[in-house]
Amino acid sequence: MKGLAMKRIGEIGWIEKDAPKCGPLDALVKPLALAPCTSDIHTVWEGAIGERTDMILGHEGTGEIVEVGSHVRDFKPGDRVLIPAITPDWGSVEAQAGFAMHSGGMLAGWKFSNFKDGMFGELFHVNEADANLAHLPDSIDVAQAAMISDMVPTGFHAAELADIRLGDTVCCIGIGPVGLMAVAGANHMGASHILAVGSRPDCINAAKGYGATDIINYKKGDTVEQVMELTDGKGVDKVCIAGGTVRTMEEAVTMVKAGGKIGNVNYLGSGEFVTIPRVEWGFGMSHKFIHCGLMPGGRLRMEKLASLVEVGKLDLNPLMTHRFTGFEKIEEALLLMKEKPPDLIKPVVVC
Ligand code: NDP
Ligand code: ZN
Repeated sequence: MKGLAMKRIGEIGWIEKDAPKCGPLDALVKPLALAPCTSDIHTVWEGAIGERTDMILGHEGTGEIVEVGSHVRDFKPGDRVLIPAITPDWGSVEAQAGFAMHSGGMLAGWKFSNFKDGMFGELFHVNEADANLAHLPDSIDVAQAAMISDMVPTGFHAAELADIRLGDTVCCIGIGPVGLMAVAGANHMGASHILAVGSRPDCINAAKGYGATDIINYKKGDTVEQVMELTDGKGVDKVCIAGGTVRTMEEAVTMVKAGGKIGNVNYLGSGEFVTIPRVEWGFGMSHKFIHCGLMPGGRLRMEKLASLVEVGKLDLNPLMTHRFTGFEKIEEALLLMKEKPPDLIKPVVVC
């Protein structure tokens, strides 16, 4: 079978591989829609997780089941499914401890395009199908469904990690597709003022649509100063980080009030250390909490997030600025993600 792979750090290309084997609990799936992720860019072009050779990329998509293992109960060939980017081993001790995304070791619930071939192949393997797949509701189209793999669960997780409460004033740093979903998540969780940090006009418009009340352009002045100005010098209750650099944490710690919480889902692809400013962190006594996380995966998460789309409370169409038709177009879509033209939020390929 054919797949678009990371050949080595800095190089992608089409390769031929044997089709994956289906274990008794697993499923083989063919893609119906696919999307590249900024994480693929960190992985290939920044070498963020180290060398990988001929590994098929991709962890965002929706698909149709081709084969299931003998122990799979709820799925059969022909079923259309939602597939999370993170597919944990649900029997692991880490999952029992409540951190399924780290099943088998830190970040090891992230298998596609990390430890094994991802979704940009003609067929891909899903471990523990009953626990990791969800049936795709008829009312959700395959392209929107691809946004539920990673963009929605990751952005919403930033809002969860920041522990947004009713009436909170929140700053969302980064309003690419993940940050936009952090804005939407904060809005759903009851934030009042949502200060969204970004610069590209299309992202800014989308952020307003998802609930941002104020926009901060980090290219037109210091982010913290702008936050302080908008909050009468008080700072914010919560911060979601879905963009920026290793320096962004300094800004978040500075702008959050004592007792506030920071939720980071940004994948720091480069830089050695994340520094915390001593004085702004209350000399270590501020009760400013820093939470960070890989998105939770699995079936229940997919079903819950899809239900928000089904009832019309979450419209994912504003995320998908560039649409392609045909499986091979995934290469063009990935390269577009790397270039990140100003009008791009997220490309999606309907296969
Ligand atoms: P994008 O690159 O599309 O968006 C990044 C955003 O950050 C943009 O709005 C950009 O602004 C903004 N930004 C860039 N630099 C700064 C800065 N110095 N200060 C403030 N804002 C800044 O990324 P995605 O939305 O696709 O992904 C966001 C991150 O989430 C990535 O690192 C990705 O790898 C990670 N991720 C993490 C996952 C997890 O499970 N934890 C899963 C999936 C993704 P603009 O472009 O408008 O100038
Ligand atoms: Zn991703």
